[in-house]
Amino acid sequence: MNFSAVVALSLLWLILAGLWLWLALRGRKKTTSAPSTAPQARRRSRALLRQLRHLRAALDALPEAIVLLDENRRHALWFNPAAQRLLGLASPEDIGCVLAERLPTLALADWLALPAPPVRDNEAAPQDPSQRLKLALLRTSQGQPMLLVQDVSRLLRLEDMRRDFVATVSHELRTPLTVLHGYLDMLEEDAPPEWQAIVPQMQKQSQRMKQLVDDLLTLSRLDTGQSLPAQPVAMATLLQHLLREAEALSGGRQRIRLQDQGGLDLLGLEKELHSAFSNLISNAVRYTPEGGQIDIRFAALPQGGATFCVTDNGYGIAAQHLPRLTERFYRVSQSRTRETGGTGLGLAICKHVLSLHDAHLEIESTLGQGSTFRCIFPAARCLPRADATQPLP
Ligand code: ADP
Repeated sequence: MNFSAVVALSLLWLILAGLWLWLALRGRKKTTSAPSTAPQARRRSRALLRQLRHLRAALDALPEAIVLLDENRRHALWFNPAAQRLLGLASPEDIGCVLAERLPTLALADWLALPAPPVRDNEAAPQDPSQRLKLALLRTSQGQPMLLVQDVSRLLRLEDMRRDFVATVSHELRTPLTVLHGYLDMLEEDAPPEWQAIVPQMQKQSQRMKQLVDDLLTLSRLDTGQSLPAQPVAMATLLQHLLREAEALSGGRQRIRLQDQGGLDLLGLEKELHSAFSNLISNAVRYTPEGGQIDIRFAALPQGGATFCVTDNGYGIAAQHLPRLTERFYRVSQSRTRETGGTGLGLAICKHVLSLHDAHLEIESTLGQGSTFRCIFPAARCLPRADATQPLP
């Protein structure tokens, strides 16, 4: 059951409880004043009671823990049996307790005090730290705060297994691929005439595989990265590197311009930022036909922070693809990606790197006209440029 269904159910339960109470009182009043309607009211209240029992049974059977809190998000007004299993609350002793004090290991006080507490998706359960919990604070439509807790241990274990599997396979593939690549390079020099056309094809495919393995390893490394040390990254130097790489990749097929207007450096990891930016640039080169224009721009934002933008006037992307572009292996056109040597992981890597830098990616594109990929960095990730390198015009 998802969060909104739980909210709806709890709400219904509250409304029915109120209705039942109201009808019961009304029925009792009417018994004295109008005896003829009493059986009707009794029947109605019995029906409501039955529904209330069903709802109560459904809430009791939920695997998610629900704790209804008071207006100040301090006291636990009610909780279901799952809250006893997942949080160790006891009924009726803990009804009315101060939740943050009752569950100190979850450090709830500061979190509950936030205007909109963010979802916490990997917390140790108070009873058993190996059990992992997801916590969310919801509000019913009547404004009642409600803590929702899910056991996500299995999900996180599966996620770990997936990560380990991909990292191990990619790692194991790397050495045999390097060996194959080396032999193919040797073959290229003295291949018999009938192999002249085949060897470059084999080299191209093995290069693609190597790129795929490298991208998968980059993603695995980013997946395990907890927090990034904030090291100053000299943007003037990095941008010059990126420009040279773009020109080499383009081989003169497109015109490439760099505008460095930042006057800023970034705080983060140079290797990862280089990887994110070069993915955007190599996409612009690969998805822009000959004679096209590519602009790389690094600039300070008026509201603080900085933006790194890559604009091209290439093939562009239809609107329906935009929301899915940063998914792993999502490609607009399989054949074009294959043609241009893509792995389908470039934008996933870029998004990941940016989120580790508290930054985000914005994409604008029009089919047949071109695209702009914009990396937006917050002010906290920027600092005035230290070196005296002159920005390019
Ligand atoms: P790929 O290796 O396939 O390029 P990416 O993750 O880098 O993988 O990009 C995902 C898809 O987004 C690409 O397959 C391509 O269809 C589309 N795309 C990315 N950048 C551009 C661009 N500048 N112009 C047009 N399409 C692009």
